[in-house]
Amino acid sequence: MAEFDVAIVGAGFAGMYMLHRVRGLGLTARVFEAGSGVGGTWYWNRYPGARCDVESMQYSYQFSDELQQEWNWTERYATQPEILEYANHVADRFDLRGDIQFDTRVAAATWDEKGDRWTVRTDAGDECSARFLVMATGCLSSANTPDFPGRDSFEGATYHTGRWPHEGVDFTGQRVGVIGTGSSAIQSIPIIAAQAAQLYVFQRTASYSVPAGNRPLSDDEIRAVKDDYDAFRAFNSLMPTAIGSKQPIPEVSALGIAPEERDRIYEARWEEGGLPFLGAFIDLLFSPEANDTAAEFVRAKIRATVHDPKVADLLAPKTVIGCKRLCVDTGYFATFNRPNVELVDVSETPISEITAHGLRVADRDFEVDAIVFATGFDAMTGALLSIDIRGRDGRQLRDAWEAGPRTYLGLGTVGFPNFFTISGPGSPSVLTNMIVSIEQHVEWISDCIEYLRDNGFERIEATPDAQDAWVDHVNMIADFTLFPSCNSWYLGANVPGKPRVFMPLLGFPPYVEKCNEVAAKGYEGFALSTASDGH
Ligand code: FAD
Ligand code: NAP
Repeated sequence: MAEFDVAIVGAGFAGMYMLHRVRGLGLTARVFEAGSGVGGTWYWNRYPGARCDVESMQYSYQFSDELQQEWNWTERYATQPEILEYANHVADRFDLRGDIQFDTRVAAATWDEKGDRWTVRTDAGDECSARFLVMATGCLSSANTPDFPGRDSFEGATYHTGRWPHEGVDFTGQRVGVIGTGSSAIQSIPIIAAQAAQLYVFQRTASYSVPAGNRPLSDDEIRAVKDDYDAFRAFNSLMPTAIGSKQPIPEVSALGIAPEERDRIYEARWEEGGLPFLGAFIDLLFSPEANDTAAEFVRAKIRATVHDPKVADLLAPKTVIGCKRLCVDTGYFATFNRPNVELVDVSETPISEITAHGLRVADRDFEVDAIVFATGFDAMTGALLSIDIRGRDGRQLRDAWEAGPRTYLGLGTVGFPNFFTISGPGSPSVLTNMIVSIEQHVEWISDCIEYLRDNGFERIEATPDAQDAWVDHVNMIADFTLFPSCNSWYLGANVPGKPRVFMPLLGFPPYVEKCNEVAAKGYEGFALSTASDGH
């Protein structure tokens, strides 16, 4: 059986950087990747309109100054092909491919108590052994396709946004049904609508979306950031979401100023575009009354854009803004003014069936040639729990997390020695610029592995006390916010039967401080042992 120091599952931004770092320690590593190439999210999500919604000059690695100086983003928000090209560039530049095994899905991983090692088994039945197992499987990589009655009876074409065909899809002249109105739907609907003869959008919950304000990046803009990239990155990392902006850091409550002044601030952020809209005031994610001022501002924009008042009313969300992830769009709401686009409300009357020729809602049949499932992901835990992971005493991760994920810092889990999760539940992950969070986790894990090696430890495992206290802390922070007030994927509410637990942690800077403190105290909250201690 092949033996490595580190086995890494996934070759997205997390797995690629993890490989680079452990190689830097002189360790051997093997990355297993289900896809045929690097890039993860950007390898799989090739739907029309896919692009990042964190600005490209931020949504990129910062670990190598040469890399960030030599790479040039062309737009404020890069397209999926450009981000995939960047991922491939990184793989080539750091010569990563030799240690990545593509087209290989990890099916199982078992902790071998006697050898202090993980045995990793692929779907082809091959096995290897590794001292450490790092899960870089992605928070949004396990596609969720609801089990509508008759789903497999449809005779037309079906697509999931997160598994889009590499050759692309031309919807010209077709009747298309899009199920879902989250970020993926909101990016793709305007483009599909421009191609299709007829588009039906099946909406269960209306989404808040702000304009992207996308545009080409000028040489001057790029130069200004590159001239002091470190300071730019440092400023961004002080923000709760690790996303900076040219906008001022909020200092006041939305309720503490005159309504006209408040609307002027919202208007300026709306014009600037993008996610920093939600950073206008300090209390938008904490106070329902403050939140409603932002929500009402967006609802008014929707009513002003969409001509048919009934359609505008359906598109205007009633929930807390930011409770589900804020969407960023280019021309989404205006798309519903097109004569070939119909919004179908499935909030009260769900899609009852998928038939051979389309979708059925109540007593109406929608005949279509293609169905697009923009139905999202089994987020944060889906990819991890689809692997048969067995830790100490043969305990399965699925059982350990039966009532919801339990971790210490989102990095380690009781009962699973030498097992790390990058952007795991209980860490800021999806509430941040994810590349920043990924780099922070990768560096923490590789520093930890180096510490173990240099101090003669064979294994590390989170302690029950530290984990219990951390889970309580994550829940306490969540309860302090408005996040638990709606049925989001952050809570697992989009997947039937999934435990309802708020999985990410709000607040990047205090989290980083805590991780650094834990490391400085010799990995406090983790049990470290030598082989002779263990058995
Ligand atoms: P991924 O990119 O998801 O990579 C995980 C990899 O692991 C995948 O390639 C998968 O095939 C592989 N894998 C999983 N299980 C197995 C297994 N059992 N065996 C082998 N391989 C396996 N975040 C932002 O911060 N800003 C954005 O603008 C943004 N836009 C996004 C747009 C879309 C459409 C989506 C879906 C997500 C977006 N995200 C964004 C989140 C995005 O997922 C992260 O930014 C980042 O790309 C995650 O990198 P990763 O390496 O952790 O995971
Ligand atoms: P999503 O936000 O989970 O949206 C899924 C949509 O499908 C929701 O509208 C959901 O409705 C609907 N849906 C699910 N099951 C349904 C059912 N049985 N019947 C009817 N409708 C159903 O998924 P996503 O759009 O793929 O986005 C996931 C995350 O990926 C985003 O939140 C974001 O973090 C990231 N992303 C980012 C970008 C970007 O702009 N850079 C683009 C895409 C994705 P309900 O709301 O009622 O559940």
